[in-house]
Amino acid sequence: MKMPDKKKAYCPKCKKSTEHKLKMYKKGKTRSMARGQARHERKGKGYTSKVAGKVTVYKQAKHQTVMMECMKCKHKHPKTIGPRTKKLLELTKT
Ligand SMILES: [Zn+2]
Repeated sequence: MKMPDKKKAYCPKCKKSTEHKLKMYKKGKTRSMARGQARHERKGKGYTSKVAGKVTVYKQAKHQTVMMECMKCKHKHPKTIGPRTKKLLELTKT
């Protein structure tokens, strides 16, 4: 899927639609002291205990997430877009 790297969109900070820059979203580093992550790690601790018990079938195609940056106030917010696609999103320069 291809998409232009600039787009007009609603900015929650300016409270109106402005020009936005689009960037690929990257997942941040997991913090081991975060609530959910600590609980997950504690569950997996100990003698023969596995967290992942169920067999889950994952969907092959995923929604793509982009980081939208307002060009006026530089406010960033993530946005998931489009239909599910197997191919990674490509941002074309405009
Ligand atoms: Zn803004």
